[in-house]
Amino acid sequence: MRKLTIASVSVTLTLAAPASAELIGGCQFDRDTLTFAGSPVEQATCLLRKVELMGKKSPQPLPPVIAQLMEQGGAPTAAQKAAAIAVFPQLYRDYALGYQDLPASQTEAGVPLLYFVIHDTSEPFMGAEPFPRHLDNDPKVNSFASYLAAEPVAHIFLNRQGQIWAAHDFSIPWRATKLESRVVGPAARGRFVHIETVQPRRFLPGATNRGQTYGPKPGFTPAQYKILAALYVYASARAGHWLIPAFHSTVDDGIPDAHDDPQNFDLKKFAKKLDRLLSA
Ligand SMILES: [Zn+2]
Repeated sequence: MRKLTIASVSVTLTLAAPASAELIGGCQFDRDTLTFAGSPVEQATCLLRKVELMGKKSPQPLPPVIAQLMEQGGAPTAAQKAAAIAVFPQLYRDYALGYQDLPASQTEAGVPLLYFVIHDTSEPFMGAEPFPRHLDNDPKVNSFASYLAAEPVAHIFLNRQGQIWAAHDFSIPWRATKLESRVVGPAARGRFVHIETVQPRRFLPGATNRGQTYGPKPGFTPAQYKILAALYVYASARAGHWLIPAFHSTVDDGIPDAHDDPQNFDLKKFAKKLDRLLSA
């Protein structure tokens, strides 16, 4: 009897260990809780490391406004939500007003939205051609045409002029990272929302494959940071809590063939727009 008891205990432990012990990637995503490791401040610090050439990540300090939101918790006020909506360009402003009371996504198991993932589109891809001279006003760079697909990759596309094309409302569980699509699978859908921010790419000198590219500097326009901040506040309001901001490349850190976006993202500029919006 005694022997049997010990044996069954050890079997239970063996079976339980792999499921709860598996942490994925550099920010240690737990596939059971669908959460990265640490407090919200620690998660944001890992997920907002600067993404450099070829996807190298470098630590950078969390801007005070983001640190404060992560520490205090809570949700945007009604006034902050209204201020965010007021920043949106038409026609998205009307769209956002129409959907403002619909709760944001959750997973099929009922786990609520928590991560606001910032991408760069890496399009248009110039190959070895130079970047267009007037990037921010270039019709080809700022056209949404190439993102109109049967299954658009992200919730939102944001061009360099601050115009928005909403592909999926924030209530729709969707995926745009390898962590969601290849590693965890459909169970993760709804935990993340995705913003594709338009930035072209071209080959690094001598490169011939899409894993070796670079983006322009500055990477994004003031209009993109401003709208991105408003989208962050609006999506957080829909979720009922402050979301944890993240980059595509840090979410997928450690996963083979991970993308290296966003490039040249200035976290301080984003935080400045967020600070201004929240104190308006
Ligand atoms: Zn991406």
